[in-house]
Amino acid sequence: MKYLLCLFFYGSILWADAHIFVYHRFEDNRYPSTNTSVEQLRKDFTYLKENGYKVVPLEKLITALKAKETIPDKWVVLSIDDNYKSFYEHGLTIFQEYNYPFSLFVFVEATHKKYPDYTTWDELREIAKYGSLEFHTYAHGHMTHMSNAQILQDFDKGMSLLKEKLNIKPKYFSYPYGEYSMRVKNLVKNYGFEAIINQNMGAIASFSDAFDLDRTALVGKSDLAYTLSRKALNAQWLEPQNYPEDGILKKITIQTDTKEKQAKVYLTGHGWRDVTLQDGNLDLTLEAKLLHVRSRVLLDINNKITNKLIIKDTYGTQ
Ligand SMILES: [Zn+2]
Repeated sequence: MKYLLCLFFYGSILWADAHIFVYHRFEDNRYPSTNTSVEQLRKDFTYLKENGYKVVPLEKLITALKAKETIPDKWVVLSIDDNYKSFYEHGLTIFQEYNYPFSLFVFVEATHKKYPDYTTWDELREIAKYGSLEFHTYAHGHMTHMSNAQILQDFDKGMSLLKEKLNIKPKYFSYPYGEYSMRVKNLVKNYGFEAIINQNMGAIASFSDAFDLDRTALVGKSDLAYTLSRKALNAQWLEPQNYPEDGILKKITIQTDTKEKQAKVYLTGHGWRDVTLQDGNLDLTLEAKLLHVRSRVLLDINNKITNKLIIKDTYGTQ
């Protein structure tokens, strides 16, 4: 019996994956690359509802992760980056209609300096009645081009304004533009957030790192069914860890827990290639000149994925 229970438990850990999604603008056709129409949002939400997905608050997912509980397969977390007015004007009522919780990651300066496209403090107060407000930096800078001191200064300013104006202390952080490096991640982690959300497509399983949670952007006509079918791959990245100094990626070394032999690797600007695994491990030697200072490496084994963003960091790797 004990053995059977173990088997069942092991199986559920292997296969259970939740998904975190991020939206940006709503019903704002001026910016098609970050916009979701109200019609599409309703389509997404109806799909989730009709297919038995449970939209849970981010906090519930993080609590389960930290308690090392099994993550239910049908859990979905919804987030919105950047406090655009269009969320307040077009998105919020649909979230309310479906009674879906959400986390809004606030670009503080935009509200503080009254940028026209962004919510006011009063609108944020209204939004906070229905979802949680989290932190997305004060000035929405490219963090890999900011020194540690500049980042800390930005955070102190943003966090104290959120405390002063809304009386909140955000627990979670998302990177502007989804951009980070090892240095940036370590700095943000040490700042005291309970979880950090990136913008790398993927899924969340019980082995996911709470300080590097994959989150998929939904934009335009999103293929939600396909995105939801993706699973998290339990993988340890040995190489690359950082953007190579000479801009040439020489090795991809990843250890996984799979028994599969065939996999696919993607590198920005170079596309997909078939690769062979040895005992679940990928050890690929290449001389790939990186074509972008922001490149993605992705390993896909039968729709289970793990990926890493490598970005040139002006301030080094530590
Ligand atoms: Zn943003």
